[in-house]
Order: sequence, then structure tokens, then C-alpha cells
Amino acid sequence: MPQADAVGKNHIEFIKILGGPTWITIDGKDTSRQRAIVTLLHGNEPSGLKAIHQFILSGRKPETNLGIFVVSVNAALLHPYFSHRYLPGEADFNRCFKVKGFKESRESNQEILAGKISNTLKSYAPEAIIDTHNTSAHSDIFGVTVSSEKTVLQVAGLFSRKLVVLDQVLGTLIEQDLSCPIVTIEFGGFLDPKADKLAQNTLDKFIEASSLFRDEPKDIQLLERPLRLEINSTANLHYSSSVQDEADITIFNTIDQMNFSKIDANVSIGWTGNNGINDLTVRSKDGNCIAEELFHESEGFILTKIAMTIFMATTDAYIATNDCLMYLCPENSDVSA
Ligand SMILES: [Zn+2]
Repeated sequence: MPQADAVGKNHIEFIKILGGPTWITIDGKDTSRQRAIVTLLHGNEPSGLKAIHQFILSGRKPETNLGIFVVSVNAALLHPYFSHRYLPGEADFNRCFKVKGFKESRESNQEILAGKISNTLKSYAPEAIIDTHNTSAHSDIFGVTVSSEKTVLQVAGLFSRKLVVLDQVLGTLIEQDLSCPIVTIEFGGFLDPKADKLAQNTLDKFIEASSLFRDEPKDIQLLERPLRLEINSTANLHYSSSVQDEADITIFNTIDQMNFSKIDANVSIGWTGNNGINDLTVRSKDGNCIAEELFHESEGFILTKIAMTIFMATTDAYIATNDCLMYLCPENSDVSA
């Protein structure tokens, strides 16, 4: 069993010992196969890291060889610990992976590291890769991927019955072609103790299952081709239970309670300011703004125009402004994703 002084007695000591981005490999019972876990891409999302630290500390042998990439250690170490998604001045790490059709940019340190992570994973040749995250607001556990192939469903099904299938070019790890299923798992809110427990139970299953691909995938709710609700970066966004007079848009601070719920047409999600819903954008696949097909304004409320399922709705204005307010799948509509 590894001594606590080798890997630290908790996840904070663990990252202090690592000191920076680290690739760890552990021999399995079956040394002919590999599995991989990428964790802490976002420095303030520790559930996966805690689970991995506990597994290493237990001294148990994984079923197959196991590769673990602990990524944003520097951001997590910035005081107070685990409070930074990425270092000040840097970009969101999960937008730094090069993908086909992605605009070329100057190669930042993060993009160079993202390239190294992809190359390391590719040469390790794992049979599946899990990328661990927490959501910024309350949410059930769910998977995110770019494919609904059977092997992806089999791996995702170890963790959750909910799987989001993205078709947008964002620059994420899951968009990389690494010749195996890659699934992001969002274990739930970053402060939710339930998320830590879920991460531990499900990652242990992933690490210790004799086969990931024996059972048929069952009852997976697929949320395919979701749309992103974004806000104009200059708009003044608030999350509150009462309208904020200086806000262009006020979203209810309980919006995360609607995550993974099917909501009807004419359900309110917040209030508008002087600008109506003009600051809100939803881009279709061909780049057109279709926000007005999905939302409308009435008596100062922002209302859904059609039934939809929303998820990854945040209550963090910074994330909402810099990434998006929520993802949504319209129900049986003519809205062209
Ligand atoms: Zn994340």
C-alpha cells in the first residue's frame, strides 16, 4: 500500500506533492490492456481527483493498467486551493484542444499542454478514457460525449443514465480522435458531498470492472445536438430571486433546479431589462441566431417559447458570460439545430 507521505493523506497534500501537471501510470492485474482517467482539467472541480487519490491510497490493483493525467494542478494550488477554474490570464483549459474546423490561434502554454495530453493518451492506447468534472451549479451526474456509438454508451452507462451528445466544435478533450470512447463525466456540483461519493463509487467501477464492453447499454437518456444559450459579453447579467434594476438580464438563482427537467412552453426563467431578450443568443449549426424561436419576452419575463429540456444551467454569472447560461434540447419542434 502506498504510504500517505508518498501521495499525501488527502487531495490537497496530493496536488502539493505533484506540484504541476502529472501523468501517473499504475500496473493492472491484466497488463495487456489500459484505461485512462483525465482529472482536474478545471482546477476547481475536485471530485474525480479525490476519488483517484483515495484509490491510489488504498493500494488496490486496477483491473487493467491505469493512466491518470492530473492537469490543472497549478490552478488548483493557487490560494485558496481549488478555487480557480484556470490561472488568471489563461483560457478555459477545456477549450484548448485542437480539433478539426477550430480556428487557428497562437499556441499558448495551455494549448501545448493540451497537445501533450492528447499525444500521451494516444500512445498509451487505452480502451476507454474518462474525463472528470464537476458542474458549477446543482445537477445530477451525467456524461458528455460526441458520439452515441455502442461502446461509448457502454462506458457512459457505468456512470449515469443521462448522456449529452455534443456536435459543436468547442476545443474539448472529448472531441479528440484517440481511437477509443472518451466520455466526460460531470459528477454534480463542486460543493456537493454526494458528487464526491458518486465519483468514488463510479470511478472504482471503471477501474475495477473486468470488462467495460460486456453488457448491453440500457436505458440511457440521450440529449443529442444540444443548443447553447449565450449572453452578449457586454450585457449585465445577474442571478437573483428578485429583479436587479441595473441588470440587462436577471436569471432566477434557482434555475439549476430545472436541470434535466422537461419544461413546457411559457415557463419563465428570469426577467429582462431595457434590452428585452436581444442580449441572448442561441446559434444553430449553420451559425444563425435562433433565440427568438426558443424564447420570448412578456411583461418583463423571459419565457420559453416551446417545450425543452435544459441542463448545465449555471448560477455563476462569470461562467454564464464566458461560456454559456445553459444547454437545451427543444422538444419535437421545427427548430433547426
Ligand atoms: Zn469542468
